[in-house]
Amino acid sequence: MYWHKTPLYIQWLYPQLTWHKSRKEKTIYVTFDDGPIPEVTPQVLSVLETYNAKATFFCVGDNVRKYPNLYREILERGHNTGNHTYDHLNGWENSSQKYLDSIEKCKDFVPEATFFRPAYGKIKRNVIRSIKNSYEIIMWDVLAGDFDTKLKKEACLKKSIQATEKGSIIIFHDSIKAQKNMLYTLPRYLEHFKNKGFNFKAL
Ligand SMILES: [Zn+2]
Repeated sequence: MYWHKTPLYIQWLYPQLTWHKSRKEKTIYVTFDDGPIPEVTPQVLSVLETYNAKATFFCVGDNVRKYPNLYREILERGHNTGNHTYDHLNGWENSSQKYLDSIEKCKDFVPEATFFRPAYGKIKRNVIRSIKNSYEIIMWDVLAGDFDTKLKKEACLKKSIQATEKGSIIIFHDSIKAQKNMLYTLPRYLEHFKNKGFNFKAL
């Protein structure tokens, strides 16, 4: 189970993490996790270009190792990138040392990253303490749910729009599993908020 809108009490439990940006600006921070992959990421880049939107890609180190040109293209197009561990570890099911090693290994492939996002949003408090001087840890206040194969694409769009406000950080996935919902939702989501006077910036 998951929330399209991150409850405030979760945000209050972890005030040291970034859940959203200023609620005063008509800016939305679109983020993509788990790429880059050749099947999906180029399509995302082209949709973003259409809407003059900049975004942040939380990359899996192993994917960057496999597709370095795609990684470079993300940066060349003016987007930002973040560390999402080397092998997409679950932060609650692995030892802190193994987890920190995976972050460090990812850094070899995503050296520019000053942002970190834990896979599945799961991170131990001692890991937060270990990395918080090296990375800003970026969570989200809007979860598109694009990875949910039981969620209809129209519902994915509707719930994403409903949960978004000024300064929201929304999470999509440039992954095979999420592509059907994501590639339907993304352009319509951008169109909706562009028409309301919002802009889309990288973190
Ligand atoms: Zn992930």
